[in-house]
Amino acid sequence: MARRKKLYEGKAKILYEGPEPGTLVQYFKDDATAFNAEKRATIEGKGVLNNRLSEFFMTGLANIGVPTHFIKRLNMREQLIRQVEIIPLEVIVRNFAAGSMAKRLGLEEGMALPRPIIEFSYKDDALGDPLVPEEYVIAFGWATQQDLDDIVALALRVNDFLSGVMYGVGIKLVDFKIEIGRVWDNDFMRLIVADEISPDSCRLWDIETGAHLDKDVFRRDLGSLTDAYTEVARRLGVLPTNVTHATKPTLIN
Ligand code: UDP
Repeated sequence: MARRKKLYEGKAKILYEGPEPGTLVQYFKDDATAFNAEKRATIEGKGVLNNRLSEFFMTGLANIGVPTHFIKRLNMREQLIRQVEIIPLEVIVRNFAAGSMAKRLGLEEGMALPRPIIEFSYKDDALGDPLVPEEYVIAFGWATQQDLDDIVALALRVNDFLSGVMYGVGIKLVDFKIEIGRVWDNDFMRLIVADEISPDSCRLWDIETGAHLDKDVFRRDLGSLTDAYTEVARRLGVLPTNVTHATKPTLIN
């Protein structure tokens, strides 16, 4: 059987050529990395959970009118997506101080911020994704001022949606990262949410206990990452069908 062409392999995902022009297949691996890939592990089941969770969030966003790259899930680990030109920025939205912001400013983790704060990191592994001001983004031509205005508007809509969905299942959305892609519909350029939205790219804390239900479990050795992601998926009602104990082959839709 002809193997499809691998276009890109990142730390947690692989992109293959899609069945139609303008589409790609996004494959979710079980690999986890942190601290700019200095810490690595394979965490069984992570890819399956993130495939489902990213589908759930992207579909929800589409339902409230926020455009995304997601087309459909293909199987346990793969989804069909629109091919985009990725803007080389990590768009980070923060509601509560944590991680690098808490460290940089000497803030206590969990402190509520006066309003959602958006920041940009330049996507470059060799440089460790440095934080960059808007001035750099525009001067170096990574995005225009108009793009940035649109990106901020998109990021805030994603934040409102995700915060609400999470609050509904007893989880506080502390911060998250999204990536934005450009697509062209005829001559008209649009910006859409791309990459993934999963506990790999969010900080999620249980509202009652403060327990971490995100990649910090791996970064900070707080227990089982699969258990944490499974808990998020369970609360959202998106647990993948468990085929391990099936007595006969089960069709996964
Ligand atoms: N984040 C991410 N990928 C990155 C850097 C950050 O998904 O390469 C997410 C991270 O999971 C967190 C948010 O962006 O939800 C803010 O991360 P922060 O800047 O605090 O960096 P960290 O402490 O994770 O290094």
